[in-house]
Amino acid sequence: MKMSQGKINELLNESGCEHNQKKQAQKKNKSCTQQAQPGAAQGGCAFDGAMIALVPITDAAHLVHGPIACAGNSWGSRGSLSSGPMLYKTGFTTDLTENDVIFGGERKLYQAILEIHKRYQPSAVFVYATCVTALIGDDMEAVCKVAAEKIGIPVIPVISPGFIGSKNLGNRFAGESLLDYVVGTGEPEHTTPYDINLIGEYNIAGEMWGVLPLFEKLGVRVLAKITGDARYQEITYAHRAKLNVMICSRALLNMARKMEERYGIPYIEESFYGIDDINRCLRNVAAKLGDAELQARTEKLIAQETAALDIALAPYRERLKGKRVVLYTGGVKSWSIISAAKDLGIEVVATSTRKSTEEDKAKIKKLLGNDGIMLEKGNAQELLKLVRDTKADMLIAGGRNQYTALKARIPFLDINQERHHPYAGYMGMVEMARELYEALYSPIWEQIRKPAPWDNGETF
Ligand code: SF4
Repeated sequence: MKMSQGKINELLNESGCEHNQKKQAQKKNKSCTQQAQPGAAQGGCAFDGAMIALVPITDAAHLVHGPIACAGNSWGSRGSLSSGPMLYKTGFTTDLTENDVIFGGERKLYQAILEIHKRYQPSAVFVYATCVTALIGDDMEAVCKVAAEKIGIPVIPVISPGFIGSKNLGNRFAGESLLDYVVGTGEPEHTTPYDINLIGEYNIAGEMWGVLPLFEKLGVRVLAKITGDARYQEITYAHRAKLNVMICSRALLNMARKMEERYGIPYIEESFYGIDDINRCLRNVAAKLGDAELQARTEKLIAQETAALDIALAPYRERLKGKRVVLYTGGVKSWSIISAAKDLGIEVVATSTRKSTEEDKAKIKKLLGNDGIMLEKGNAQELLKLVRDTKADMLIAGGRNQYTALKARIPFLDINQERHHPYAGYMGMVEMARELYEALYSPIWEQIRKPAPWDNGETF
């Protein structure tokens, strides 16, 4: 896959994305079509986005072709867990120097691929372009092709250098690499009418492991996980699934849409957060697979799981009921977490709409009601003011806002990709309730909110 302006425009204007397509021509979202601006890569460049999407393929080696800082920038920042191989946790880089920039880095890349194969025997090698290697014009595709022939395993170029745009665009380029080089290159031992793929679920903190047993109980087989806790082989036969279930709805939308065009696999967009959403997800999967018995089994499972969950959540609901929170996250989580919080009796008084689509915003509005505040952008001061103005008890946000909250003595819960606890599925609801409870009722708040002894006139 060549990285060209045409390709970038195509991915920015993803036709499956109603963010752009539902609007009239003159009103189309400018941020979808414009060139990357300085600062677009803040919070993750396109290279970083491509790595996030592919690194959870755990038995492959992920080689960064560029200066060592690019590998350092992205390494280990996501908590995708593996149930087996740990090779994905090893950072590989060609560590380009000034000399390579002048004379080219292709030879070094070729040697690096051979060395990785010799030492680690990976199932495949993904090679990532960075700004420097794209600018000096290394022909990565040619090197990968020659290396693959030499070592006899797939070597996949991922041409998504940081300067082309945001993390989200990088996710889509990663999807393109999978479509061009991986999907359709293998065959499963057998197929069933109940084979699905999960797309955009990265098994952060092991979240997918709370959901897979539900599909197993229903007799639905997850053929390929794209890409949480994935093995390279399973992605090669993802084209044999009967349904694609998109979990993080924007990230790999191009992949789901193109698999529908190429292989006739329909896709649905679902969320695993909150009781209503997981119930809806299971029902929609059963309905799409079109089997009446499966639908009956699904209703039975939902009834069992929700009854057990009601018992497990009862003590938490009692303590969390009526608490007010400000939610500051992005995209699909802006509304899916509101729904999970509501299940616990918590009131979300404000939420951000960063990276949210028009559809996401409509859902948020419905869930928040007329009094809820929708925040497009916010800095630390604005967030703290919002917490004060709304008399919120807690801030739920990404890790970078942790110290904003803690320094202001506000309880905090990390909801983004750096989180350490799984919140998906029914078990995830219990985990989330426990974490919220522990954050809100920690004895530390009483201690640090007391006036300092010297403010009380005490002497030492
Ligand atoms: S790819 Fe470019 S923007 Fe991304 S970390 Fe490397 S130098 Fe920075």
